[in-house]
Amino acid sequence: MPSDELKPCPFCRGGWVVIVGTDKGVWAKCFECDAQGPRHPEADAALESWNRATKETP
Ligand SMILES: [Zn+2]
Repeated sequence: MPSDELKPCPFCRGGWVVIVGTDKGVWAKCFECDAQGPRHPEADAALESWNRATKETP
């Protein structure tokens, strides 16, 4: 299991962010405003790239 936590959504300032996945990949998604992170083959990478993306938004 990933040890890092998903950061809050930068678009709606909080939201409900979870890792979702299909057989085509895994990505972070905010169910509050429908924001989505990049798709990855692994949950760890999806989580990491979501957290990195949120850093770019103050
Ligand atoms: Zn959101």
